[in-house]
Amino acid sequence: MANPTSNSMADWDACPPGSLRQLADFKRRQHLMAVTGRIATGCVLLIAVAGIAYWTMQPGSPVLHGGLTCAECRGYFEAYHQQLAQGESSLSAELFAQVGQHLSECKSCQSSYDELYPTAIAWLGTTGWQPFPAAQTQAAFQVASLR
Ligand SMILES: [Zn+2]
Repeated sequence: MANPTSNSMADWDACPPGSLRQLADFKRRQHLMAVTGRIATGCVLLIAVAGIAYWTMQPGSPVLHGGLTCAECRGYFEAYHQQLAQGESSLSAELFAQVGQHLSECKSCQSSYDELYPTAIAWLGTTGWQPFPAAQTQAAFQVASLR
């Protein structure tokens, strides 16, 4: 079995002129490509994160609060308010709770609802956004809207 360290210098050829420079250039390019790739990946991730953040902060974006989009939630405003103020239950208990949860979490819908029904948001804030039983809600809301 041949010992690999026993090779004499005779087995080696002299490098052609410029081969070390070529190797160094190749290694430099390789390093540059790796660094550029890492920077590009970082930029793409940063742009993606910024884009998602921007998109989710748009009013009317399909981010769900209470399982509803803003557009869906706004579609239930009238029915929600009727149920809240008058105890008329055209919404299911589940949907009523979903609209309430959406309103409690979404500042954009809160201000839209507040424009339509002033004092309601302020009152809902005092209840901790918990839907009361209809009669209790009705009584409390009427007190609040007299203020
Ligand atoms: Zn909303």
